[in-house]
Amino acid sequence: MSRVAYVNGRYLPHGDAAVHIEDRGYQFADGVYEVIAVRGGRLVDEAPHLDRLDRSLAELRIAPPMSRRALGLVLREVVRRNRVADGIVYLQATRGVARRDHPFPPASRTALVVTARRARPPNRKAIEEGIKVITIPDIRWARCDIKSVSLLPNVLGKQRARESGAYEAWQVDRDGMVTEGTSTNAWIVTPAGELVTRQTDHAILNGITRRALVAIARQEGLAFVERPFSVGEAKEAREAFLTSTTAPVLSVVRIDDAVIGDGRPGPLGRRLFALYAAHAEGRDPA
Ligand code: PMP
Repeated sequence: MSRVAYVNGRYLPHGDAAVHIEDRGYQFADGVYEVIAVRGGRLVDEAPHLDRLDRSLAELRIAPPMSRRALGLVLREVVRRNRVADGIVYLQATRGVARRDHPFPPASRTALVVTARRARPPNRKAIEEGIKVITIPDIRWARCDIKSVSLLPNVLGKQRARESGAYEAWQVDRDGMVTEGTSTNAWIVTPAGELVTRQTDHAILNGITRRALVAIARQEGLAFVERPFSVGEAKEAREAFLTSTTAPVLSVVRIDDAVIGDGRPGPLGRRLFALYAAHAEGRDPA
């Protein structure tokens, strides 16, 4: 089946889809993005993703590419044309095309690209056996809450993880506290059984999966606290896991050389995995 991409008002064969060489996304990484999961043809948590998109655009003073209603139609049309029942839809909005110069161009139109693809087969081994993370210094800028396409530190960090045989790299701030993964949020369960994830501030992305899991934790009446945790505390944790749209609730069983718990996915991680799956499939308890 041939893939189709949406580029600035047109649906094009994926292989022919292109943006101008002076698109500011290409020149300056002057743009933002979202990745939304598709489950059974439904967009998972569409509204919070589009709220976060609006926020990222507003923080960078990039005009919305179109109304939310129109954007919803484009997202669905790209999903439909690519026959994605289970997968992801990706959207990227940049400050548009202009002669290369750092200040905002006086007149440019927000550029919008949307693609969709079926999910890769779920990595059963990672889910069943858990994954390894390494820790690296957080070398990013001071506005990690903006979902910018400027991802060079994340790219370098993920590559280091891959080269170390790890799934993810947890970034660590100057105080020795874990901020987040390169494309995931970080969680631990303390020896006392408390579920901990860092509070949302400018140091991390406010993950939509994180947000859903916070709601689930509250509904379930779990002991839950939002605060920073150190690498040392993470290594002593009873359980650890990470969350993202593409890797919801993946258990971490090793951090650098430290084995977490008994080296296998723990009970709370497994329970939250199942609860999140129900949420993503629209089977939320009423
Ligand atoms: N942190 C970072 C740095 C990310 O890139 C992502 C995924 N885009 C996340 C966290 C997780 O966010 P979400 O749950 O919205 O996918």
